[in-house]
Formats: sequence, C-alpha cells, structure tokens
Amino acid sequence: MILQKTSNLLLMSLFTPSRRWQPAFYPFKKEKFARRLLAKTELLIKGPLFGCRMCGNCLLQETAFICPMECSKGIRNGPCGGTTPSKNCYIDETRKCIWYAIYKHAEEMGREEKLLEVLPPLDWEKVGTETWGEVAGKIGKVGNRIFIKDILSKDKGKKTRTWDSVFKTIRQPEWWNGDSDYHAPGYIEPVSDLEKQLQAGEFVVTSEVTPPLHANTGKLAKDIELVKPYVTAINFTDSSSARPRMSSIACCKKALDLNVEPVLQIAARDTTRTGLQSDIIGVNELGIFNILCISGDSAKVGPSPMSNMNILDIDSVQMLWLLRRMRDEGIYLDGRKMKDPPRLFLGAATSPCGSDPGLQAIRDHKKVNAGAQFFQTNLVFDAYKLDTWLEQLDKRNILDKVYILIGIAPLKSFKVAEYLHTKVPGVNLPDNVLTRMEKAGEGAPEEGIQIALELVDSIKRKMGVNGIHLMSLGWESSVERIVTESGLIKK
Ligand code: SF4
Repeated sequence: MILQKTSNLLLMSLFTPSRRWQPAFYPFKKEKFARRLLAKTELLIKGPLFGCRMCGNCLLQETAFICPMECSKGIRNGPCGGTTPSKNCYIDETRKCIWYAIYKHAEEMGREEKLLEVLPPLDWEKVGTETWGEVAGKIGKVGNRIFIKDILSKDKGKKTRTWDSVFKTIRQPEWWNGDSDYHAPGYIEPVSDLEKQLQAGEFVVTSEVTPPLHANTGKLAKDIELVKPYVTAINFTDSSSARPRMSSIACCKKALDLNVEPVLQIAARDTTRTGLQSDIIGVNELGIFNILCISGDSAKVGPSPMSNMNILDIDSVQMLWLLRRMRDEGIYLDGRKMKDPPRLFLGAATSPCGSDPGLQAIRDHKKVNAGAQFFQTNLVFDAYKLDTWLEQLDKRNILDKVYILIGIAPLKSFKVAEYLHTKVPGVNLPDNVLTRMEKAGEGAPEEGIQIALELVDSIKRKMGVNGIHLMSLGWESSVERIVTESGLIKK
C-alpha cells in the first residue's frame, strides 16, 4: 500500500505537465565539501522528481510535492490571480501556472487542506544549500527507530506528531510560526471609518483614483474631490501594470490633507520585508490605517527595459501574516518587540472571475487565515462566476470573517472592454457584455454605465457581499452617476 502510494506520487511528480527546467539556486558562500556533495546529490534526485530548485527552505510536503519555486514570481503561498483562461502563467504563457498544478495535485492526493498553511519567505542564508543534513539531524533527535516505527504506525495522531516534529520545524522556523488557523484580530475598536462602517453592517462604496504620472498633484486633488462625496475611502494604486507613477503613500497623504480616508495599496513586486515593516510604521504615524496587500502586476506587463520578473522577497499572504503579527503581537519579523505597534485594517485582493473560482477560494481562505479582514476584488463582469466563488467561500466558512467589496468598472468603449478581457490578468468578460459593448457603437459609454448599474443591482443582494469597489479606470466622473443611480449614495 505504502509502496503503491509512493510510486504514484513519484510518477505524478515526474509527469507534472507544467514542469519547466529552471536553474537551481547557488549558495551565497562556499560550503564545505561534504555539504556541497550532499547538495549536488539532493538536486540530482529532487530536481527531476519535484522540480526542486534548491531554495534550501524546503516545504514540498505542503505543496503536493511540487516545488513552488518554479512559479515565475517564486510565490510560496498560492497562485497570484494572474493565470490565463487556459490556466497558464501570464508571465510565461508557454507553461501551466505551477500553482494550479500544485492545487490539482493536492486535490488528487487528498492533501488540499495542507495548502492552507501560511508558509514563510525564504531565509536567504539557506538558499542553494542542502536540507537533507538538517532532516537527518532532526530524525536523529527523535531516534531513527522511533521515527520509522511512528511513521509506519496506524495511529494517525502519532504519525502526524512525529512527522511534524521533524519537517514542520524545518519549514516553519520560530521567527515565522505559520499555521493553517484563523486568527481573529487582536483588537475591538475599529481603526478607520472603512472598518467602522463595515462593522456597522453598512453597504460600503470605495473607489480608486489613479496616481499622477508627474510630480504635480493638481489633477490628483481634483479627482479626489470629484469622488469624495460618494465613497467611504479611496484606494491609490501602487504603480499598477508595473508602470511607475506617484507613490501610493504620497497620494494617501494628499487624500488625508483633503479630509478623505485613503486605502494604501502595497505591491509585493516592489517590496522587501525590511521596507514593508518600516513603511508601515511610518504610514501609521501619517494617519494611514487601511492597507491593501497585493502581489502586483509583473514587470512582464510593464514598459521596457523590464525589471526583475523573478522571485518576490515576500508575497502578499506573507505580507498579511507579518503585518497582523506586528499589529497583534507587537513584533518585528526578526522577533524584536515594539513599544507601540501599528494600528491596521488589513485587506487583500482576489480574482473571483479568474480561471477557477474554486481554487481561488483556497487561496482566499489562506489570506483570511493570514490576516485579511477585507477583500477588494478584481473586476467582476460575470455574476454567475461570482456566485460560484461566494459559494466556495461559504463552504469554507469564511464569509463571516472577511468583508467583501466587489470590483466594478464602467466600460467606456469596446476597446477598453477588449483590453480588459484579453490583457488584464484575472479579468474575464462574458460574451454578452462584449457583444453589448461592440454593438453600442457611439453609445458605448452609456452602455458601459448601464452594465455597471445592472451589476451593482444584482451584487447588492448577494449573501456575503458588503460593498463595491468602483474602479473608474480614469473616468472619475462616472462614480457619481453609478453611486447615485444605483441608490448607494453616501449619507
Ligand atoms: S506568477 Fe502567477 S500565474 Fe505564474 S506561475 Fe506564479 S502564481 Fe502562477
């Protein structure tokens, strides 16, 4: 039985369809000969079997025995929401998204729930080095005979305890301590108006104002003033589409000066663990409390010359875990205690209409466990897919643990509709919407508003939806019409 299971597992690993040979990492310093030899042996075996790249921070048991370091962004906690409709990676469309392969594999192996454990960022001191020596050391501590006996035992509890005493301590170092559990926020009083209104059960409207391309905030201030009467808070994107613009922090500060509550977006793409922690303490002092943690569009969709498309220092799930612990436990990632922890209302992005709402829900469940208190979704044009996604969240029992604001955008033209459908990762427009926009001709802007109003109308009544996030796509004047005509006007 065990032999059969093992050989199935190895065969599945070998034939993972998305497999692409990527070079292994090298250690940053020269290791002793014995460790180098062990590392080479490990790569020789784990490379072909699991796609191992020798990250030195092994977590294969939690990722269905497929190495997540094959992900173009090196994300260690689930897909980025950017898969193409055929579930390929949007950065390298010639291969499957490795995370969808991991999810499918986990499903087949009955290890789906393992995907919920919040996995740590890389400890770069270990990158490129072997992990077998560490495993052998941990097994030695348990005792080789006891380890083998417990692993072969029929007592499931004993088996798990012994297994975890070796492998969990390796993949979950003390400075991280990730788990698969939900952690309720460690405070009661809301930290922002957005949180207060959501807690009070109001149907909330947030919007997005595009940061300027230059150092003048005249137009930014005008756009903020235009949207201000109709929304609870305004998001400022963090160089969306990987095109540099005025920073989200600077725009948030401008909003505060104009008495508007901001939502600071932070893209993992341009963030390091050090930068994230220092920025968060700084923005709290400025009065910014709503934080949206996102992966960020890859440099692939940005202008040339392309920036690094490889390996994020910290992914969006890890950002949530780290910030939640900073807030609730008052600690830095390195374990230092802080006197006055930041006050934060933490949000995350999600793509309900991405290629597979069911699999997306697993990732969202993990984000809620990590610390997400609200979701602002990617653009939704397909009410049916939205329902499927909400049902999946309901099955996972998380609808009462996170506030959900659905992303809505007015389409200004057929060209915009086509662009969103074909070029923007995670956004899919159903045929009827595309056809309506195409047929509308010169009346396209009006048709776009009508489509948005119809969506708001159907979304308002859905279980688990707490508001909308209006992304005006540079058409800020449309916010007033959508909010007033749909009866959502802010009192
Ligand atoms: S970058 Fe995104 S789409 Fe590509 S493999 Fe990683 S998670 Fe999948």
